[in-house]
Amino acid sequence: MSFRKRLKQQLRSGLSLLHRDSPAILGFLFHGLFDDTGEIARQHLDAQQGITLEHMRGFIEEFLDAGYHFISPEQGDQGVTPEGRYACITFDDGYANNLRMLPLLKEYDIPATFYITTGNVEQQECFWWDVIYRERIRRGAQKPEISREQKMLKDKHHLDIITYLTEKFGDNCLHPWSDTDRPMTIDELKEFASHPQVHIGNHTRNHYLLDRYTYTEMLEQIQLAQNDISKWIGRHPISIAYPNGNFSKQAMDAAYNSGLKCGLTLLKNKSHPPLAGNYEMGRFTLWGNQDIHTQCNIFRSDIPL
Ligand SMILES: [Zn+2]
Repeated sequence: MSFRKRLKQQLRSGLSLLHRDSPAILGFLFHGLFDDTGEIARQHLDAQQGITLEHMRGFIEEFLDAGYHFISPEQGDQGVTPEGRYACITFDDGYANNLRMLPLLKEYDIPATFYITTGNVEQQECFWWDVIYRERIRRGAQKPEISREQKMLKDKHHLDIITYLTEKFGDNCLHPWSDTDRPMTIDELKEFASHPQVHIGNHTRNHYLLDRYTYTEMLEQIQLAQNDISKWIGRHPISIAYPNGNFSKQAMDAAYNSGLKCGLTLLKNKSHPPLAGNYEMGRFTLWGNQDIHTQCNIFRSDIPL
């Protein structure tokens, strides 16, 4: 991070002390969870926020020390009061590296919710943005160029993205390289979901950016994932994390009509109970390459910074 940006963040962190911690629910979005920075450096996937176990521990302790209770949208509004301060840890996509979260959840006895793209789990295929990332990295491309290609592909239909990948990088390009980049298996998901701290939510069947598709396609993507998860773990999710945070009035209707009670976005704002009926819940993002304490201060702020 540049000196200027760091200075700005310090300033925001300081200002946050003036007014913070009003009763609210703070959602947090994570993707991969890495053992250490060495694992990130192997570049088997696009590390995105680059969060290691150490960062996660620091984050959890910040919020526990500040008097927050960790909850899951999958638990509904049980025990949630308008006067309380809550935090929701959520992981999108269904990476096998998320299984590393279990010892921490047990140690602190807190819940987290894992939003699963069921097609990748069933097919044991990597996520398309990771394929672009690692294939381009090994051809010597720079990060901005890779981001541009990922962004360009986001606008395409899922099937066209897969065709693009296989034409450019071969039929095997979606095969996992290691435990870092692969999705969890069905058996792992079943075992994981059997722990009381672990909650499973819907992230669609094929990671469709819902607002780019017809209502029928939205409904199908959501319901296929509902059915997969219920078949695997014996219960239907009650919440959805919209892939890439993309949602629309129709996407919210599709979620509602699929029996889902809550939708998670990437809007950077605090939410309030009840979660049931809230299809626009906000989520903040933590970055491993920035100071954890400073970021947590900013999240806790009640003044827009
Ligand atoms: Zn996702």
